[in-house]
Amino acid sequence: MPVLVLNASLQPLSVIPERRLVVLLTKNKVAFVDEQVRQAIEEGINARHLPADEPVIVQLLANVRVPRMALRPTRANILLRDDDTCQYCGKHERDLTLDHIIPRSRGGQGTWENLVACCRACNGRKGNRYLKDVGMRLIRQPKPLDHEYAGFFLLRYPRLREAYQAYLLSAQVKTA
Ligand SMILES: [Zn+2]
Repeated sequence: MPVLVLNASLQPLSVIPERRLVVLLTKNKVAFVDEQVRQAIEEGINARHLPADEPVIVQLLANVRVPRMALRPTRANILLRDDDTCQYCGKHERDLTLDHIIPRSRGGQGTWENLVACCRACNGRKGNRYLKDVGMRLIRQPKPLDHEYAGFFLLRYPRLREAYQAYLLSAQVKTA
């Protein structure tokens, strides 16, 4: 049961295991954002049996300052940003390669803007050439991931991400 922790300002901070949630609750550091989820989890804690697949979101009661975190364009981070999807043909699979959009042999750098997830077929087709020379296009323009990017770690937790987006929408409705 992964638990999403939001800052008091609703910015996603981290995903924590349920043990850690129990500690934060005991210390009165966090509050549930959803009343039904609060009841389910509190009953679960009392019964020592927590619901396994409930997406749980809690909010810190006091805001903490988060230094802006620059993420490096590692292979893992590029694949995470591109959602394991080839950025040329849209194929979704594990074990994609990375492609330098401007080929390394022509001065292309290992940057967020120049690296994309790429399947082997597309990589073979493109080789060391420019996109325009092989008639290939990117399905979207690559951008850097940073900590502001709606919690990049949430990409690994699709159900939590959905619950978070639904919560943000409902919070906007309430303040509108
Ligand atoms: Zn492809």
